[in-house]
Amino acid sequence: MYQSVDYDVVVAGGSVAGLLCAREIAGKGHKVLVIEEDYEIGTPEHCGGLVSIMGIDDLGIIPMRATLDNKIRSARLISPSGKSVTLDARPQQVIVLDRREFDKQIAHQAQTNGAEIQVRTSLREITKDGVRTTDGNIKCKIIVDARGVSSLIHKDRTGTMQSAQYEVYADWIDKERVEVYLDQEKYPGFFAWIIPTRRDEAKVGVAGKGINPAVVLEDFLKQKGSYSTVRKIFAPIWIKGPIKEFVTKNVVIVGDAAGQAKPTTAGGIYSSGLGGILAGNAISKFLKSEKEKDLQEYQKEWLDRFGKEFERMLLARSLLERLDNKSINVLFESITPQVLDEISKEGSFDFHTTSVAKLLGVKGSVKAIQAILGNELRRLLS
Ligand SMILES: Cc1cc2nc3c(=O)[nH]c(=O)nc-3n(C[C@H](O)[C@H](O)[C@H](O)COP(=O)(O)OP(=O)(O)OC[C@H]3O[C@@H](n4cnc5c(N)ncnc54)[C@H](O)[C@@H]3O)c2cc1C
Repeated sequence: MYQSVDYDVVVAGGSVAGLLCAREIAGKGHKVLVIEEDYEIGTPEHCGGLVSIMGIDDLGIIPMRATLDNKIRSARLISPSGKSVTLDARPQQVIVLDRREFDKQIAHQAQTNGAEIQVRTSLREITKDGVRTTDGNIKCKIIVDARGVSSLIHKDRTGTMQSAQYEVYADWIDKERVEVYLDQEKYPGFFAWIIPTRRDEAKVGVAGKGINPAVVLEDFLKQKGSYSTVRKIFAPIWIKGPIKEFVTKNVVIVGDAAGQAKPTTAGGIYSSGLGGILAGNAISKFLKSEKEKDLQEYQKEWLDRFGKEFERMLLARSLLERLDNKSINVLFESITPQVLDEISKEGSFDFHTTSVAKLLGVKGSVKAIQAILGNELRRLLS
């Protein structure tokens, strides 16, 4: 069926989704090349690195000493008026990864399985028999688009927000506590965050609709106290959920490029990474059978796993976006220690809409919130 090819598969994008996809394909004995436009795998890092141990276990990765930055014991949510509630995060086993090292660890797994990786090579165009890259044309049977949010921006700008994240040194950082600041005026539709990486070190970021994230983040940092910035990154996040078609002919889209990051927090190490693995398995099957349905199976499997939860996350997002600061303050006043205890014990870091529903549905607040949100809240709570 195929003319002679250089590779069975070319993967464009050497980050978590692309590398895991390549690892699976190479592991089944197929010839795969990963092209990465940056100079180095894992760099520049544009991620908070927050993930559950269960999640990375599912991805088939045990973090090494160099990969694991920190362990998180609690999460503190802060309302616009400054009231805070704290969740015990220990049952959910949340860690902070060093993405530079983590991506290299996956690259090593992929290489050990037989994948080839080439940095400083960009995908320019998909051609009729493969791809055109900055390093010449390559013939292949399947092309995997793992280029992250950059692949989506041209298709749909309405689902993205700009974020800024600085790595800072400061003595006000709690080493074991993640902090999330809600304020619809300062960070409309999103939040500000502090993810501690070491003692007195953290990744501090903001995102929001229509804001200048650098200006807003610097204001936020000034209010926290004195600090030094050792690194700045600016990157778009995608909050609109999965795209319609993961597979079109011989092009397979994985990870953030397919909208596989959580619509609530834009976290995607787990769900995008698993997209890469499921795609890799489907592609391997297809390369043996040449049956198109084997390739299509990837989308079905990803949706079976995440579809319902992502729909609920989109619903939660649309509810939260409509709450103004006053309603959020009311909500915080109504959260009881019992609700926090239930969320800590039963909640899941990766499938968290039940926890969001619990917070929105707390007694006392529910009347005020229901007046604004009506039926949709009942759907989320049901
Ligand atoms: C500020 C910020 C904080 C985040 N924090 C968290 C967090 O705490 N926890 C979490 O789970 N997720 C977090 N995320 C999301 C997470 O980083 C992504 O979901 C995850 O990295 C997606 O992996 P990916 O492989 O799909 O895409 P990406 O990691 O975006 O990788 C895409 C790769 O493709 C390459 N590329 C792009 N164009 C081309 C081209 N033309 N040719 C070749 N290569 C190309 C890029 O250089 C890049 O290496 C955060 C994101 C941001 C922006």
